[in-house]
Amino acid sequence: MNSKIITGNTTILAVFGDPVAHSLSPAMHNAAFDFLNWDCRYIPCHVQPGDLHNAIKAIKALTFKGVNLTIPHKQAALSELDEVFGDSLMSGSVNTVINKKGKLYGTSTDGIGLVRSLKEDGGFDPSGKNVLLLGAGGSAAAVIYRLIDAGINSLFLVNRSFSRAASLQQKVTGDTGFEFKVMDPADFDNLDWDSLDLVINTTSVGLHDDLSPLPKRYLKPDFLVFDIIYKKGGTRLLNEARSAGCQVLSGLSMLLFQGVESFNLWFETNPPINIMRSAIDKLC
Ligand code: NDP
Repeated sequence: MNSKIITGNTTILAVFGDPVAHSLSPAMHNAAFDFLNWDCRYIPCHVQPGDLHNAIKAIKALTFKGVNLTIPHKQAALSELDEVFGDSLMSGSVNTVINKKGKLYGTSTDGIGLVRSLKEDGGFDPSGKNVLLLGAGGSAAAVIYRLIDAGINSLFLVNRSFSRAASLQQKVTGDTGFEFKVMDPADFDNLDWDSLDLVINTTSVGLHDDLSPLPKRYLKPDFLVFDIIYKKGGTRLLNEARSAGCQVLSGLSMLLFQGVESFNLWFETNPPINIMRSAIDKLC
């Protein structure tokens, strides 16, 4: 069977985003289907925010097996699903939808993807570590619970809009009992940089520009710096971290593991990780 030929029997999955053309998820999942010789295809769908409601209804009407959600739909999708489970219950962010017998279930694999990436690609166990998390948007909310669950010792949350970071802090501490500090980027000088082990960027700074969310003078060689953004040539933060002697991890690694976890949820089996990895490495 040639799995690239789409027929009435082909199982369809998709990613909904705005924009979506840049997404590497179709290449990653289709490479897995080709390798497995499965009659499945994963397609990018450009869904604008005003069309999300209808697009989610269409998952059932068109009998898609599953969908990933990317910017800007991860939070808005929550109220459109039949049931939310796992990480999304607390984080309020959904990146994976499973269509099971016409019922739509949603959860997030971003947090578990990040922690797997730290452990499996970074050789880094977050347990007992001191973490600086940059950003307080949807992806920060998705990863913060998993970092706490992984046993981190301390957390500093820094965001451009202090109030957004403060409300995330209130919610997370209320949910988990884990207390941590929120800081304004203007207070970077007051941070105990020597105590840190891990810096994670979840802001979108560096994606469409050549800026870094962290001045390079703060980088220390014993940090692991994880930028969840990925782009050709690397982000400024990662390039500066590498020059400062830090170990670095790029968003490609998180993309891989969140995709592996989504695949697991849709098909209840492990995908060929190395095939997926080489498909995205080739493109970025
Ligand atoms: P959100 O829009 O929810 O949050 C964006 C964050 O970036 C906020 O903290 C925002 O701060 C901050 N920010 C945006 N512009 C600036 C700026 N100019 N200066 C300082 N801070 C800024 O987005 P997400 O959290 O969902 O996604 C963030 C990034 O992570 C995206 O680029 C996305 O592609 C990437 N991502 C990668 C994944 C992967 O698998 N590798 C998975 C998920 C996301 P403020 O609150 O002040 O607006």
